[in-house]
Amino acid sequence: MDLQNTVTKRYGKPISQCSNEELYASLLELVKEMAKDKESIAGKRKLYYISAEFLIGKLLSNNLINLGIYEEVKQILEEHGKSLAEIEETEPEPSLGNGGLGRLAACFLDSIASLGLNGDGVGLNYHYGLFKQVFENHLQKETPNPWIEKESWLTKTEVSYPIQFGGFTLQSRLYDIDVIGYDNRTTKLHLFDVESVDESLVGEGIDFDKADIARNLTLFLYPDDSDDQGRILRVYQQYFMVSNAARLILDEALERGSNLHDLYEYAVIQINDTHPSMVIPELIRLLMERGILMDEAIEIVSKTCAYTNHTILAEALEKWPIQFLHQAVPQLLPIIYELNSRVMRKYNDKSVAIIDDQNRVHMAHMDIHYGYSVNGVAYLHTEILKNTELNHFYKIYPEKFNNKTNGITFRRWLLHANPDLAKLITSLIGEGYKKNADELEKLGSFADDAEVLQKLLDVKAAKKADLKAYLAKTQGIEIDDNSIYDIQIKRLHEYKRQQMNALYVIHKYFEIKAGKKPSHPITVIFGAKAAPAYVIAKDIIHLILCLQDVISKDPEVAPYLKVVMVENYNVTLAEKLIPAADIHEQISLASKEASGTSNMKFMLNGAVAIGTMDGANVEMHQFVGDDNIYIFGESSEEVIEHYEKGDYVSRIYYDNDADIKRAIDFIVSDTMMEVGCRENLERLYHELLNKDWFMTLPDFKDYVKTKERIYADYEDRMAWAKKMLVNISKAGFFSSDRTIAQYNEDIWHL
Ligand SMILES: *Cc1c(COP(=O)(O)O)cnc(C)c1O
Repeated sequence: MDLQNTVTKRYGKPISQCSNEELYASLLELVKEMAKDKESIAGKRKLYYISAEFLIGKLLSNNLINLGIYEEVKQILEEHGKSLAEIEETEPEPSLGNGGLGRLAACFLDSIASLGLNGDGVGLNYHYGLFKQVFENHLQKETPNPWIEKESWLTKTEVSYPIQFGGFTLQSRLYDIDVIGYDNRTTKLHLFDVESVDESLVGEGIDFDKADIARNLTLFLYPDDSDDQGRILRVYQQYFMVSNAARLILDEALERGSNLHDLYEYAVIQINDTHPSMVIPELIRLLMERGILMDEAIEIVSKTCAYTNHTILAEALEKWPIQFLHQAVPQLLPIIYELNSRVMRKYNDKSVAIIDDQNRVHMAHMDIHYGYSVNGVAYLHTEILKNTELNHFYKIYPEKFNNKTNGITFRRWLLHANPDLAKLITSLIGEGYKKNADELEKLGSFADDAEVLQKLLDVKAAKKADLKAYLAKTQGIEIDDNSIYDIQIKRLHEYKRQQMNALYVIHKYFEIKAGKKPSHPITVIFGAKAAPAYVIAKDIIHLILCLQDVISKDPEVAPYLKVVMVENYNVTLAEKLIPAADIHEQISLASKEASGTSNMKFMLNGAVAIGTMDGANVEMHQFVGDDNIYIFGESSEEVIEHYEKGDYVSRIYYDNDADIKRAIDFIVSDTMMEVGCRENLERLYHELLNKDWFMTLPDFKDYVKTKERIYADYEDRMAWAKKMLVNISKAGFFSSDRTIAQYNEDIWHL
């Protein structure tokens, strides 16, 4: 590693005279060169993880850590009066993902490379990504989020395919990003782009001509699908992604010696949620083009593809109207019709049909029939799939169903995000946990060691001060680092119930006004983007921003309670927020959150959860026990029963509980109307009162009680530190290295 040499070649001057941008470009080049040397072993069988999202975050520090040169680079820079942290700030965060599913894909790539497995990611190179969130008048506004600069992690390749759509053909281009494993090999994230993409198509905000496919195809992730044009665009995007992926997979398999009849011995495709599902008919089509008969082509593909389900929310299980496919990808229709008629001949059961009575194609159904594995992403989620949501399929194919509880990469979420904590852990139990996460268990022997517990509190205090400084500098937000940091960060969705947290804030506001002051001031921090067309989600953001305003201006309450909603929540912010958290909110409506992964990141960083028995919280609870996690609310069985019976009426809770009534009424109070918009606040008020589809109110009382308990327990600092330590020591199971080892053992067999 010779940074000065790279710098001299590029700029002909010493490190000390370079700008941060020049040093960033030099480090990019250096890392790319070092990564090349680690590409090694191909192996016969290869995994292709196809995903519409890869929420990879900034890469510089993580890559330096995984190459084992982070400390050395940091020191060299310091010797020349430069700061790695400042250089890192010049790196834009790639905007290739939306939330948990995309971040999971990124953690998986890290673990695949770090375990030395033969596997690459395949996705799309969105130029403006999801969108950048800005707040204006307490409302979310969406703007483009450009991230591709002249110097970037992308490497243009020679790979390019003609992709055929109904009536026209577009030429693709493959760009690669190195995925550098921790002390291991380098694999690739393959991102396909369209050669004719045109960024100037974007006008006001994130508006663009949705019909101009040649120029818009890879501009945005999840373009607005509130109209048919936007929905068809998503079909074009998905087909473009999987047709490119399928061609790449076939080319690489042939290169490694496959005769295509044995493709399944050379390739395994993990379909991450339903967005890549068209890879099944497309691969069948391409095999037939190469002379393989349909029966065999179907068999080959069925032995190659495996499907991961991420949600039981019906709205997220994609169903494409036949006429959309007819317009965008007519060549797939004969194959999809054939796949469906085979299913109907065999099972004669409409509930498992691929094409339904309304002429819609159920992508998940196609995956289950024509893939060899179906997995959920946490124990409870997989059980619900088997017993409720996908029960008809489970009865046909019990052997296909399996669970793979999600995980996170400890390189990014501990070594990179919280080096102080990593250092403390290393001083106590050595380095082994960095590669073998189960070794964190060894921390358990320090559970009653006052000196260690104090050190843990000191690290947390330092991270809280760091967050305070970061928010002041980047967002102009002032917080009190002596307060309890109570954090809820995740995509905004009614089932994730940010609205319950906000109602609690209102409740607490009234309690403080009535003289019940908390022993420690409380800072409630939110971070969340809402889908541009998700009206109620945006109303909830409006509610939170109005509360932030109202409470900060109230001299009676402000010293004890502060609400903060950070702008444009992303991986970079998550890396600052999570290490600083005292309490984290995992309060989804039981049965609706498939797994969650922020819960795992917080746990690893010594925060204590308040949550419902949902997703991976169930397993976390099992590991840490009742003393170290705060569980409340109805169970998934109770919730599922409410939906089956349709017996939930929110107004009954409003009418019969003075606290609930007071909190909900406040949404449309004069105080709120002074800072907010009547239309948004009234709509949200009516939604909660008349619908509340995700049942916030039945859990509210229990939530309030449990919040009071967790805040009270925070006061005994040593007892609290012990909870922190137990959480960290039990986090090993949630390493994505464990998850990936299980995928490989049970599904991929690389
Ligand atoms: C981990 C992560 C998520 C997922 O959070 P959940 O609370 O599990 O939904 C979403 N966004 C970002 C930026 C993340 O890092």
